[in-house]
Amino acid sequence: MDATESMNFNTLAEYARRAESFSINHDALDEYGDWLVTFGWNRDSDAIMMANKASIEEMTEKDEENITEISFNHFACGWVAYKLVKKDSLAHQLIAEAMCSISEYPILEDDKITTCDSCDHYVLMEEVVYGYDGSYCSEDCKRSEWIPCDDCGEPTDQDDLDEDGFCDDCELEES
Ligand SMILES: [Zn+2]
Ligand SMILES: [Zn+2]
Repeated sequence: MDATESMNFNTLAEYARRAESFSINHDALDEYGDWLVTFGWNRDSDAIMMANKASIEEMTEKDEENITEISFNHFACGWVAYKLVKKDSLAHQLIAEAMCSISEYPILEDDKITTCDSCDHYVLMEEVVYGYDGSYCSEDCKRSEWIPCDDCGEPTDQDDLDEDGFCDDCELEES
């Protein structure tokens, strides 16, 4: 079966009728009411979701006039957003194939994400914070891997410890 048939997308108009808690802009409904509501994300989406969003954007670039996005406020999620595609366009075909693929395996392109060496959460490659000996999701996680100074015990970036394991401050006092 064709991906566009197996992924049964609603039109924006159908979606708006069911989703009473969403405040969909009336101008958007006039303009895109018969476009299809496809890939969605929200304020709390994790790195996998955002990596897939980036992949989808790259895949559909060649038919960008038939894809757009819409976002609206939601009482529970803060906001939600969706890719809208024109029915039977190339973008529709491409996004349906991508979403079929996601339903079988959650990540479109593995090389877009990695895991944080401290907390193990997924992190987008483009947002990785590199440390002396690893890659982290945040400055906090990077700091959690810092090593206590041998003298004062202050957690310190490995790069800032001398070969005796002293921080800059203690190193100065020693000499
Ligand atoms: Zn982390
Ligand atoms: Zn010290």
